[in-house]
Amino acid sequence: MQKSLIGITTRNGKDADGHPLTALQHSYIRAVVQAGGMPILIPSIFDEEDSLDLYSRLDGILFSGGGDVSLEYFRGDPHPRIGEVDPNRDSTEIGLMRAAVHDGKPVLGICRGAQVMNVALGGTLYTHIHDQIKGALDHAYPGDLRRVLVHPVNVNEESRAAEIFGETFLNVNSLHHQGLKDVAAPLRVVGHAPDGVIEVVEIPSHPYALAVQWHPEWLTDQIPMQRLFKSFVDAAGR
Ligand code: MN
Repeated sequence: MQKSLIGITTRNGKDADGHPLTALQHSYIRAVVQAGGMPILIPSIFDEEDSLDLYSRLDGILFSGGGDVSLEYFRGDPHPRIGEVDPNRDSTEIGLMRAAVHDGKPVLGICRGAQVMNVALGGTLYTHIHDQIKGALDHAYPGDLRRVLVHPVNVNEESRAAEIFGETFLNVNSLHHQGLKDVAAPLRVVGHAPDGVIEVVEIPSHPYALAVQWHPEWLTDQIPMQRLFKSFVDAAGR
């Protein structure tokens, strides 16, 4: 039996000579492979027609972490810390997300991917949590602390996420300075940090649409995170 083909969205970067790159951290690829899926990178430098052609061949899509979504897609406050905005990535991911939610194709959102899920479906974001949520914990740890557990997440007992994780209390990393604000209609918030910041959303009416605000791909030594990737790849195989 062929493995499920899992598209993973990518960022546009530059190599040491300044040449454009399509880039993705290995941690995402390893997590998909570990869960039994076949990863394939989704570039965001081609047109909508090709993007939809690739989309039609995928069994599931993992929306990876990255820079901030452009304010052009949601009502949010401008903030000097909004960074790494990439119009090609935004339009590619928002198009893919809308299609996958509409068609019932399995999707897993990670960090920016959770924000893309919300914005693509009509939700909004806090553009800099630290200045916009009073008393918020620090959620924006530096990139070298990807394996460090910095805050808990409480998952609603009555949720698909709780079933998937097998736990309702998780300890997670946190590398985001933005967060979900007004939540799009089809989404259900099913996990929070202790300060109220949204950390898990799911779409109950969808075969598999789940998104987390932390980075489980760096925590695959934890059984709940293994279960997350496994459930996603399994859903893509059905
Ligand atoms: Mn967090």
